[in-house]
Amino acid sequence: MSRLLIVGPQGSGKGTQGAVIADEYGVPVVSTGDIFRENIKNDTELGQKVKSITAAGDLVPDELTGEIVRDRLREDDAADGFLLDGYPRNTTQVGHLDEFLSERGEQLDAVILLDVPREESLKRLTLRAEQEGRDDDTEDVIANRLDIYESETAPIIDVYERRGIVDRIDGVGSLDEITERIRTALAARGIVRPAS
Ligand code: ADP
Repeated sequence: MSRLLIVGPQGSGKGTQGAVIADEYGVPVVSTGDIFRENIKNDTELGQKVKSITAAGDLVPDELTGEIVRDRLREDDAADGFLLDGYPRNTTQVGHLDEFLSERGEQLDAVILLDVPREESLKRLTLRAEQEGRDDDTEDVIANRLDIYESETAPIIDVYERRGIVDRIDGVGSLDEITERIRTALAARGIVRPAS
């Protein structure tokens, strides 16, 4: 029972926290951003299709993204749970995911929302740009991604709030503090780490 979604603005640390949480709860991370980057790196057909879109910080078309996610979620390791990072990213994608999950008699158990003020996001992204040199971490593209987050992604929170599955987590603090906040919120929903 751990079908999770982690959502938060760029620079909120959702990639980092998502990986830690998925590992602890024994589920795979399904990150659309990682899938796209991997395909771009390997110059696959998908990579060629999405390269200029991701470089501009725009959204890859919903149909294409949905297909990629569904294929990934059909793999065996995601049968009992997963942690989605970066999908869904707008309300259309929420509809696509709902449809896919309900056909399987499944639903999301919790949405972890990492709350970070825009200035803090910008600060972290600028630092990451210096350290990692991701080609969508330039000033203009960062601003575009944050704008799209606010206009298209933030509204999905309301949809999930109405279902009562959102855990709003303060994303400012040390890495460990934030992980502990997430564990506590999940535990309150009866989502606990498998005994190892
Ligand atoms: P970030 O959250 O820092 O913008 P991601 O790694 O989640 O980075 O995504 C990188 C890029 O991949 C996005 O800017 C977008 O172009 C594309 N992308 C990722 N997820 C989606 C999605 N669900 N729908 C459309 N495009 C996506």
